[in-house]
Amino acid sequence: MSKLKHNRVYNFNAGPAAIPLTVLERVHEQWFNYRGAGMNVMEMSHRGKEYDAIHNDTVARVRSLLNLGEEYHVLFLQGGASTQFGMIPMNFLGEGKTADYINTGVWSNKAIKEAKLFGNVNVAFDGKTVDFMRLPTQEELVLTPDAAYVHITSNNTIKGTQFFTFPNVGNVHLIGDMSSDILSHSFDASKFSMIYAGAQKNLGPSGVTLVILRDDLLKVAREGLTTMLSYQTHVADNSLYNTPPTFAIYLMGEVLKWVEEQGGVAGMEQRNRAKAEMLYGFFEENPEFFRCPVSPESRSWMNVCFRLPTEELEGRLINEGKAAGFIGLKGHRSVGGLRISMYNANGVEEVEATVEFMKDFMHRNG
Ligand code: PMP
Repeated sequence: MSKLKHNRVYNFNAGPAAIPLTVLERVHEQWFNYRGAGMNVMEMSHRGKEYDAIHNDTVARVRSLLNLGEEYHVLFLQGGASTQFGMIPMNFLGEGKTADYINTGVWSNKAIKEAKLFGNVNVAFDGKTVDFMRLPTQEELVLTPDAAYVHITSNNTIKGTQFFTFPNVGNVHLIGDMSSDILSHSFDASKFSMIYAGAQKNLGPSGVTLVILRDDLLKVAREGLTTMLSYQTHVADNSLYNTPPTFAIYLMGEVLKWVEEQGGVAGMEQRNRAKAEMLYGFFEENPEFFRCPVSPESRSWMNVCFRLPTEELEGRLINEGKAAGFIGLKGHRSVGGLRISMYNANGVEEVEATVEFMKDFMHRNG
């Protein structure tokens, strides 16, 4: 039996992931009748005035939280971040042009595979050479001077690395897949021509992908593409060309409201820094039992990957954790080991409880 409200668990799933309880409670309150409309948001017309207000309110919150200028378009698309892997080169990698990709793990690799279908790809840094255990320094990047764009994955959900300062790419367009760390710490969004993120980690439920696109990049998008895969379509119709994922967008808006109430991105940064210091600090104090293979300067605040002395112990920690209400501790199937995904919604006290649980486990098994 969980000690938490509503009998909930400590949810460290990698995505879809925890949603702030306050958000779930507010949505629950409006479940049968959203603000007097007499229906749930998911039952409303996407052309009606109630939904229109939700949609534009969510756009406005994205703009304000990331401090975006008028030159940025905010879109809500479908098909996950994975569809962006293909849409980006389809729209922006012209014939004979080269795009630079920084390969820092599985998700970068998938983006590279899609780009190769449309043009030349230069891998500006290949993380394979360091087993993806650290990110490149600026000096290590081999950039193409007139590249169509440079693509990075800001947080590597599987191996647990995260960029806190971004590569300097000069005048070339910088595009960031921020699926697993958007809004987790302050950064200068104006350095990016495009940012995209599947919602299911820091923004809400799966089913919607946030895309932020600067107008100068949009202007060079290829013409004549199939309608739904052209950014121009979605910009022209404010993501309402077809039926958008209305309920997911509504939930994203509620999550963004919650982020504002916690002090915005700066508030998230403070909370995420505290969680990361607590967890990595605990591992460093107990190096004979816990080992984090990622280079200290590249360690992710969102996805903390670690190992125990044996796989047998790892399995036991995962199972005992599950029984005690700590869910999602298993590492990604491609790497094994353990992973604690602690996105914005996870509170400091949840990490505290997890450290206490792991301390007890270590004393019983060390
Ligand atoms: N990029 C990153 C960094 C991810 O973590 C994920 C999913 N875990 C994806 C892309 C793919 O996202 P989707 O499943 O929304 O296509």
